[in-house]
Formats: sequence, structure tokens, C-alpha cells
Amino acid sequence: MSTASPPLTEADAARNGRAAEALIEMEGITKTFGQGAAAFQALKGVDLSIDRGDFVAVMGPSGSGKSTTMNILGCLDVPTTGRFRFRGVEVQDLARDQRSLLRRRYLGFVFQGFNLLARTSALENVELPLLYRGEKKKQRREAAERSLDLVGLLPWADHTPAELSGGQQQRVAIARALVTDPDVLLADEPTGNLDTERSLEIMELLTDLNKTGITILMVTHEEEMAQFAKTIVHFRDGLVERIDRGLKSHVHAPGGEHA
Ligand code: ADP
Ligand code: MG
Repeated sequence: MSTASPPLTEADAARNGRAAEALIEMEGITKTFGQGAAAFQALKGVDLSIDRGDFVAVMGPSGSGKSTTMNILGCLDVPTTGRFRFRGVEVQDLARDQRSLLRRRYLGFVFQGFNLLARTSALENVELPLLYRGEKKKQRREAAERSLDLVGLLPWADHTPAELSGGQQQRVAIARALVTDPDVLLADEPTGNLDTERSLEIMELLTDLNKTGITILMVTHEEEMAQFAKTIVHFRDGLVERIDRGLKSHVHAPGGEHA
């Protein structure tokens, strides 16, 4: 396990005069899968800038490049051409292990299928990212309990995923994503496997988390879920077609505030 620091700290960024820059900046991002006659350009020049504290819904038809973009944003993949800056760091210039440090330190992931370990308690599932970081048992346990409490599932800490509903499983997955105290939560169709009521509960949880300062990027097919976001990015054919910013969030809150 590497103990090296992430490539750039907040203090470094401030020294470089970059503190005022967007948290995430993509410029002319292209991504080509395959080679020669089989080559397919999934992204054709994506420009996207996201500020710290935003809640972004990414929408668009199937195959329009949403997941490919999320994989680049999540430092899981690199663009073929173009620049991706995160916290002032040029991610495409980093070595693979530096990218994974960035990912482990600053990013949390939530997936459509929850991706929990089956015969493992909720608490142990949430502890996992800290285990990978080499943290001690006591610290792991305390942080995982705090994180489970944040999603309202501390009483279910000893239960395995099979003993939890889909909505509860996704909340465990969110607790797992939060346990490392990330800057950004990346969620690819987090409500895709849930009914409407459970989906709205997840969206309310994400809204509350966003209010505490965490930046959220979420792919969704559903207009109803996208309404919770402050910014909606529409993809089409490997390009950003339109960005709607400054949207009123919390439309579902009772007696919601007036613009
Ligand atoms: P979305 O998430 O919007 O449905 P994706 O980003 O998953 O779209 O995919 C965009 C396009 O790129 C699709 O046509 C898809 O088939 C293609 N694609 C994605 N990943 C790969 C890959 N690893 N190899 C080849 N083609 C891919
Ligand atoms: Mg997708």
C-alpha cells in the first residue's frame, strides 16, 4: 500500500493561484474506443466546468457518452485527447498510481447495482475503503458508524445486504462512498434499480449531503430525479448539447422556498 501524498493539496493549489478555478474543468475531451476500422469515438470534444458545491445531473440518450464522461471524471479512465483538470491538477498527465491516489482521496462512487459484498455486514461494507487505505480497526469502525448514521442506517449495521431493501442497500453504498470524506460523489444512475418512493428518498439524502458541501455528479434517465439538481448537463452523440445552470433545487421540499 502506497503512503505517498496525493499529487496536489489545497494549499498547493492556493499557492499556484488556482483556488478560484472550477473544481472540475474539461476542455475538448475526446475518447475513442478500439482501433482502425473498428474505432468508435464515444466523446467528440466535451467542454464542461463544474464548481465546488454543485449538484449536477447528467442526462441524455443511451450511448450519448454519459458513463464514459463519468469514468474520466472519476479518474478511472483517461481521455484520448483534451484536458481534464481536477482541483487544479492536470489528470491526463498523471501516472496511473497518482490517478488512483487522487481517486481514493477525493472521490466517492455510487453505482446503479449497489455493488455491496453479499455475505458481509453493512458496517464492514462501509469500512472497506478504509481497509484499502490501511487504517486501523478502531478508526475504521468509528468512521463507518458515523457514515452509516449519516444515511440513517446505524441500527442496521450488523445486517447483510440480503436482509436490507434496495433503498437501504443503496444508502449503505452511499455511506461507503462517504466514509473517506470525499470532495465529490459520483453516482451513475443511483436510482436505476429502485421504485419511485425509494428513489425520491435517495434524492433527498443526496440533497442533504450536497447542503453539507459535497459536490455531486449524478447520471440519471429520469426527469423527476434530475429536478433535484442545481445544474443539468444534457449529452447527445458524444457532446454536451446544453447546460442548464442555477436551477431551483429541493422542489419536493414541503413549502419549498421561493426563487
Ligand atoms: P451512456 O452512458 O450515455 O449510455 P456510454 O458512455 O456508456 O454511454 O457509451 C458511449 C458509446 O461508447 C456507446 O456507443 C458505447 O457502446 C461506446 N463504448 C463505451 N465503452 C466502450 C468500450 N469500452 N469499448 C467500446 N465502445 C465503448
Ligand atoms: Mg451509462
